[in-house]
Amino acid sequence: MPAITDDEFRAEVLTFLEANTTPKLETDTFVWGQGSDEVAVFEETDRDVELTELALAQAWRAKRYDAGLGWISGPCEYGGRELPGNFDRIYAAAEGGFTTPNMGFFTISLGMVAPTILAHGSEAAKDAYLSKLYRGDLVGCQLFSEPSAGSDLAGLGTRAERDGDEWVITGQKVWTSYAHVADIGEIMCRSDVNMPKHRGMTGFIVDMRAPGVDIRPLRQMTGGASFNEVFFDEVRVPDDHRLGDVNAGWGVALTTLMNERAAIGGGGGGGQGLFSPERVRAMLDHFDLLGDATIRDRYAKLYSNFTVAKWNNKRALDKIKAGQLPGPELSTAKLALTNNMSEFSEFIAAVLGPRLVADSGEWGTYSYSKFVLGVPGMRVAGGTDEVMRNIVAERVLGLPKDPGIDSKTAFKDLPH
Ligand SMILES: Cc1cc2nc3c(=O)[nH]c(=O)nc-3n(C[C@H](O)[C@H](O)[C@H](O)COP(=O)(O)OP(=O)(O)OC[C@H]3O[C@@H](n4cnc5c(N)ncnc54)[C@H](O)[C@@H]3O)c2cc1C
Repeated sequence: MPAITDDEFRAEVLTFLEANTTPKLETDTFVWGQGSDEVAVFEETDRDVELTELALAQAWRAKRYDAGLGWISGPCEYGGRELPGNFDRIYAAAEGGFTTPNMGFFTISLGMVAPTILAHGSEAAKDAYLSKLYRGDLVGCQLFSEPSAGSDLAGLGTRAERDGDEWVITGQKVWTSYAHVADIGEIMCRSDVNMPKHRGMTGFIVDMRAPGVDIRPLRQMTGGASFNEVFFDEVRVPDDHRLGDVNAGWGVALTTLMNERAAIGGGGGGGQGLFSPERVRAMLDHFDLLGDATIRDRYAKLYSNFTVAKWNNKRALDKIKAGQLPGPELSTAKLALTNNMSEFSEFIAAVLGPRLVADSGEWGTYSYSKFVLGVPGMRVAGGTDEVMRNIVAERVLGLPKDPGIDSKTAFKDLPH
């Protein structure tokens, strides 16, 4: 039984929010043509704006943390408040009514890297990083994917070689979101080339500013550059920055991936944040399509699917908050998110037609192109649709295991 009740905690949170930020304005009715028309899957500001936003986000996290609201359910010994998981929800619900900076910088840091350090880090790493990550003093990134290892993560080739009390890392990672603003990274390396590939991997926490780390931005088709390729040239990492046992990195990676899918699928609320029924209705009204039976039918289906995904996610997240591990059902959340977003993309293309691809300056039209071009990335990030379907088939439906690319029998029936 916590020493504070739900109501007392809610009152404490509201006092903090009222003293440190402003309530959101009531915007009950969306008015077509008013305000910003930005609709993008990935944040894509220029580097100067991004650094200003990062400073604001870090200042907000520091304020929260210093008020005892930065790591509400985390263990006291590492700087948390050790309250039950539902207190996180109470905070999030209250904060939703107030204006706060863009917190996207911390999605990977706190959604994936920090929980993995807590589960697998040495005491030295937990002491050095957890409170700083939750206070926003440090930002973390995830260094898993390589040019030849994405879905097949265990095929990675970045080497980690032991040298006394240190490890020496050499290789290349790719698609690393936020590497350009990150202070530390969770990296997966090959530590033993002679073992089966799932067993010869080890995870580490690496300093992103260490000598030998070279971060290069990757420009995507939306025009922005929100992720990077990262090169490691004999980068030294102390052994107490190892995550888990030597050659036991696969289990460490699974911890991160389960949390990643929970953060993407669950956090996205089935894509609810990007699908605003009011906005779509105003758009249909503006283009005089509310009476079009086909468009109405598609709009109703979208609305239903987004709503079902939202409630399904709530069910899965409630399970986690009740102390159970995020399970395979969250893979259906990620699939629902990407399916809904893809259907929404096609719907927008049908409604806007050429306005989506030619910038006429008309409010609320061409701006959707960033959304439509960003959706395919969501189908890939955090496990592709095909990989997610395999997981659902095997772990949820209990179907026979996919032969996989390493299986000797996988391609035996294909013509040579
Ligand atoms: C927006 C975004 C952000 C990202 N951020 C990060 C990050 O911060 N850190 C990081 O490490 N990585 C990141 N990634 C990389 C991401 O994890 C990989 O892109 C993903 O794992 C897929 O790997 P791949 O691109 O190598 O594609 P591949 O694995 O080569 O897949 C190619 C195609 O083959 C299909 N396929 C592969 N295996 C199977 C199978 N067994 N059965 C059926 N089909 C299969 C896939 O579905 C896909 O269509 C990000 C990606 C995106 C798009």
